[in-house]
Amino acid sequence: MPASTSVLYQFSLQSLNTFGIAATARAYLHVTKKEQLLGVYADGAWATLPKLILGGGSNVLLTGDFDGLVLHIGLEGKELIGGDERHHFVRAAAGENWHAFVQWTLAQGLGGLENLSLIPGTVGAAPIQNIGAYGLEIKDVFHSVTVFDPASGETRVMDAAACRFGYRDSVFKHEGRQLIILDVTFALPKQWQPNLRYAELANEPGMQDAPSAQQVADAVIAIRRRKLPDPAQIGNAGSFFKNPVVAGAQCAALLERFPNLVHHAQPDGSEKLAAGWLIDQCGWKGKSLGAAGVYPKQALVLVNNGGASGADVVTLARAIQADVQARYGVLLEPEPVFV
Ligand SMILES: Cc1cc2nc3c(=O)[nH]c(=O)nc-3n(C[C@H](O)[C@H](O)[C@H](O)COP(=O)(O)OP(=O)(O)OC[C@H]3O[C@@H](n4cnc5c(N)ncnc54)[C@H](O)[C@@H]3O)c2cc1C
Repeated sequence: MPASTSVLYQFSLQSLNTFGIAATARAYLHVTKKEQLLGVYADGAWATLPKLILGGGSNVLLTGDFDGLVLHIGLEGKELIGGDERHHFVRAAAGENWHAFVQWTLAQGLGGLENLSLIPGTVGAAPIQNIGAYGLEIKDVFHSVTVFDPASGETRVMDAAACRFGYRDSVFKHEGRQLIILDVTFALPKQWQPNLRYAELANEPGMQDAPSAQQVADAVIAIRRRKLPDPAQIGNAGSFFKNPVVAGAQCAALLERFPNLVHHAQPDGSEKLAAGWLIDQCGWKGKSLGAAGVYPKQALVLVNNGGASGADVVTLARAIQADVQARYGVLLEPEPVFV
């Protein structure tokens, strides 16, 4: 291990995951320089140990202790690096806090990321599940990403096509799951227009009269504060399940039995169902199983009522999945990464 790095042992991860689940890592390294990462992967002593890349811990469910090395990404830095005719290019290092970065772009007078305000976590994790909210996804404002590939020991740049973004999905969840994101570059529009496609946002006070990007951000923040639990108060990982996408025919058959089914037509003819509505209809909203529960204001969010283990959350999630499957024939897929 290079002398410049300092590995800690039997390290508690409880404050490093927004669910607030107690778990311990066999070894832990706070990575503030790219060289530390390169050093770990170049050192045979660490080669066989499992590794977990951790950002803000807001999209992971720790199901037990981690018998390996946690690499906690703390790389910092953000800058405007230029542009083309239509875009400003802004780059941020992977360890930057996402919301603070969004606020920083707005303070520079750069709109484009405001709909993604207040999403917890880091810049580096944002492309992993193509974070999205209020009518915008990362892919809509993405330029490129710099990754370190432990398999080859090389660093390379990937464009949007190489990232294969989808709904809460990217190549980093599949063949690219070993890649470590070092920084992300965004292409923000020079001709900014508010994105008010999402009705709930369009209906917020002040949104009807040519709002500024900062005003849109403030409206998004207000809505999110009303609807979602603050992880600092009550442990959670945001939406616990993805909204299931089903074939048009399956949706039509469901509508015959459940006329109030919430569904959104997709460009390819499939239909996206509202997972929160399905869970609510199965009677889970506000219910608990052991120390894990379903948030009373939003059935899509599972919470740690205090002292929940990862296993408690998994048991609750499985019970919800079974009920939704039995009633609607739809399998809910968890959004957080189980560790
Ligand atoms: C209250 C709340 C609200 C939320 N709302 C939304 C929302 O509106 N929309 C949305 O899309 N998500 C939402 N989320 C989920 C979460 O905030 C995002 O997925 C976020 O991008 C996770 O960032 P993180 O740094 O915490 O990632 P972590 O939880 O630390 O990691 C998530 C995954 O990414 C990997 N990873 C992390 N950093 C890197 C890196 N640098 N390189 C390679 N792999 C990496 C990890 O290994 C893990 O597999 C919400 C979560 C909470 C708690």
